[in-house]
Amino acid sequence: MPVKRPRLDQLEMRGNFIQRHIGPNPQQTREMLAELGLQDLEDIVQRVIPANILNHEPLKLTGTISERAVIKYLRNMRERNKVLVSMIGMGYNDTIMPAVIKRNVLENPGWYTAYTPYQAEVGQGRLEALLNFQQMIIDLTGMDIANASLLDEATAVAEAMTMSRRLAKSLSNKVLIDQDCHPQTIAVVKTRAGSLGYEVIVADPFDHLEQYEFFALILQYPGSSGAVRDLSEVTNIAHRKSALVTVAADLLSLVLLKPPAAFGADIAVGSAQRFGVPMGYGGPHAAFFATRDEFKRSMPGRLIGVSKDSHGQIALRMALQTREQHIRRDKATSNICTSQVLLAVIASFYAVYHGAEGLRLIAGRVHRYAQILAAGLASSGHQVLSRCYFDTLQVRVPNRARRIAAQAEEAGINLRIVDADTLGFSLDESTTREHLKALWQVFALPIAELPDIGALDATLNECIPDALLRDDAILQNPVFSLYHSETEMMRYMRKLARRDIALDRAMIPLGSCTMKLNAATEMQAISFYEFAAMHPFVPLYQAQGYQQLFAELEDMLCDLTGFDAFSLQPNAGSQGEYTGLLVIRKYHQVNGQGQRTICLIPASAHGTNPASATLAGLTVVVVACDDHGNVSAEDLRAKAMAYQDTLAALMITYPSTHGVYEQAFREICDIVHQYGGQVYMDGANFNALVGISRPGRIGADVAHLNLHKTFSIPHGGGGPGVGPIGVGAHLAPFLPDHPVIEGVNPAKGEHGTVGTVSAAPWGSASILTISWAYIAMMGATGLRRATLAAIMNANYIARRLAPHYPILYADANGWVAHECIIDCRQFKKTANVTVEDIAKRLIDYGFHAPTVSFPVPDTLMIEPTESENKTEIDRFCAALIAIRQEIQEIENNFADSHNNVLHNAPHTHRLLLEEWTLPYSRQKAFFPDSHQHDDKYWPPVGRIDNVYGDRNVMCSCPTDWAEPLGGSPE
Ligand SMILES: *Cc1c(COP(=O)(O)O)cnc(C)c1O
Repeated sequence: MPVKRPRLDQLEMRGNFIQRHIGPNPQQTREMLAELGLQDLEDIVQRVIPANILNHEPLKLTGTISERAVIKYLRNMRERNKVLVSMIGMGYNDTIMPAVIKRNVLENPGWYTAYTPYQAEVGQGRLEALLNFQQMIIDLTGMDIANASLLDEATAVAEAMTMSRRLAKSLSNKVLIDQDCHPQTIAVVKTRAGSLGYEVIVADPFDHLEQYEFFALILQYPGSSGAVRDLSEVTNIAHRKSALVTVAADLLSLVLLKPPAAFGADIAVGSAQRFGVPMGYGGPHAAFFATRDEFKRSMPGRLIGVSKDSHGQIALRMALQTREQHIRRDKATSNICTSQVLLAVIASFYAVYHGAEGLRLIAGRVHRYAQILAAGLASSGHQVLSRCYFDTLQVRVPNRARRIAAQAEEAGINLRIVDADTLGFSLDESTTREHLKALWQVFALPIAELPDIGALDATLNECIPDALLRDDAILQNPVFSLYHSETEMMRYMRKLARRDIALDRAMIPLGSCTMKLNAATEMQAISFYEFAAMHPFVPLYQAQGYQQLFAELEDMLCDLTGFDAFSLQPNAGSQGEYTGLLVIRKYHQVNGQGQRTICLIPASAHGTNPASATLAGLTVVVVACDDHGNVSAEDLRAKAMAYQDTLAALMITYPSTHGVYEQAFREICDIVHQYGGQVYMDGANFNALVGISRPGRIGADVAHLNLHKTFSIPHGGGGPGVGPIGVGAHLAPFLPDHPVIEGVNPAKGEHGTVGTVSAAPWGSASILTISWAYIAMMGATGLRRATLAAIMNANYIARRLAPHYPILYADANGWVAHECIIDCRQFKKTANVTVEDIAKRLIDYGFHAPTVSFPVPDTLMIEPTESENKTEIDRFCAALIAIRQEIQEIENNFADSHNNVLHNAPHTHRLLLEEWTLPYSRQKAFFPDSHQHDDKYWPPVGRIDNVYGDRNVMCSCPTDWAEPLGGSPE
């Protein structure tokens, strides 16, 4: 038979991104639909999704754009960003990300597609990197204990304030914040204090501090102006007033300067951005938070701790989880869930790469250049205002600040315009002699002869007094000196990455977390210099590419959600919740309804919901759920009526955290509106609605989206995230603005906004390119298909597992939405098996467990997303079914109820070093299914002892990892 010659247009067909993003191919889709008794994907719309939430209007989104075209478009966008040398400072400094870190971490899915290490046995790599981060922060700040990152410096200061309120003995309700703090920090503190009823005093703490009463003193070190001051006296005064002292410190300066602990600080916070993380027009970056040992249980954020595993060997895990919102809810230490793991990991590797000596060179050079710059300016007759500084100085230029700044811009350098008479200069790791000369030229013209750098250097006197220079050793743990050749560094990063299960190894079916594909094309633009290197406070004319990105992304999100305006400022879902609730409060206040402070929250809500409501100054009232997992409309009506004069809002997750489309969503919204409340929709589950339903048109007044769930930003092992909020037109005027950049909220009106909720005007700006690219490549058609495929996949799993595990919730016709919950409660009684045992046994099968015990204790919540194909899903189902059989062996007394494959899971290579005494075969332990023979995942540690770790809290790096911890192996 002659070979048929394809037509030219067939040859010209390019790879279709929609088909690459969505896992099941057409044949698999047919098979899965057949299993579910459905004709085609659109059938799902009729059969599964309530008719009264469907969107019937066409979307404005255009068709799909190919991967090549998207990159070309983003290249054009980046051309519109003009990156100058930044000397603006104010908490953001240029830095040099070592290429070996860029290639092996930032651009490596083994790192960026991982999830928060709740399953510690499959997260030892990133846990070790985070422990290194904590150790680095402990060393540099001199404090006892540090967490594994917060969202940004300004919110970290706000967290320090709320922690101070919990701990300080002072009865005052005032916070005193140093007027030399960064303006965005002062703004965020004012917002947070305002919602909690604290009063903020902005003052110079070095001017008669005794006269004030306050429970928290917040200092910047060095000051925003660059001034390095001795903080011991003001700290003493604050302590005499029973207040706590927070120092927001610059990490690089701490390499040379006395650390905050030396002055008696109680809390040290700041940004780790300049440790190798690009400015990215504001983010994402890791903030740090360190404090005294005695305060550790009150600390916000995640804390990595050392414990031991079933072999008695050192093993890491997240410590003191009981402080967090998923357990303590409205009484939690903070609402923070997603933080900045990937960025903390990068910053820690930066310190590992440079070591103490390397950092001393960098900090020393920056400091020396600053002094030489100052000397040169002084020699040409300018008045340098700064006396004692690290890298930032101010110069007086009466009435000429704007003009000279404009000349500096001409020369390619952005300066900080402090006021009409003052300019600021912040130097950094990337500063060169050429930059100094360029500045002198701007300032000294028409003087022909520039100062000689060598000559100036020879005559310099150190501007910082000895008493403020540090003389102790830092970064003494071996990890900071072992990996200074690139070969060793590369291998260390690979060694750690290999220990973890990320999306590059297997599906991560975490309910509520939407671990979908983070496509390589989507990730590309974050590495574009014009997106990565931009300071957040540059004049807008230099950032037109970014402004275009925001405008287009906001339009896309408005289109998909039916809202009228978006704020991109909140940098995680929790921050979106907080901001949305503030917007609602402000709306009520402006309407003369300031007494509306009750927030109804269903019992099934995510822990961040009640924690955010409390932070927003609202009182949480819990609404019951019925037997089917739906919000009880009856209880809701009763409570809404009871609180009709004080009802502020309902927070509702849709589809519910039980993974079901409630039929009564519209009715529920109507009830809340009827009693004067606003509806806040937690949009973490928006992956079940995209292209199908628009929350803004079916009753929600505000919703946050998790761009790191639904819109393809990778989880990064626990951050970064972006939690933008969409609002109806009536709420748009109140969306956040910013103290440094004007026009962040163009709808701002006479009543003002809720203030500022993140340090940067547009939050974690640089990663917005990822979501933009995802939406552009999928288009309206692709996004709708993705939603339907996600629902198909979840229902297929529910159908396959139903004969083996009870499916906890489904609608009246047996359908789930985009995730399903399997009930494991009964196995405790029948086989002495817990949900933990099942989660750990999955590791032996090479899988990361689904979400454990949320929203219902002792269950697993499975969310496959649209990106997993039938082969992988079948493999996963087969593992769970095999585990069910293993449970049955215990139930039937074929296996011991204590010494069995589930209790002993995960099985590590260490067992092979000992004589085999277990009552089952090695094959059963290590290779329970045949899929793994050629690619076995070996967990680096056995089951981790959480109780031991929480009793013996240790959150710094062990010096000898081989040394077993106390107690005998269980
Ligand atoms: C993930 C999630 C949140 C919190 O979002 P973060 O970005 O982690 O702060 C809130 N609600 C639900 C239902 C979630 O799944």
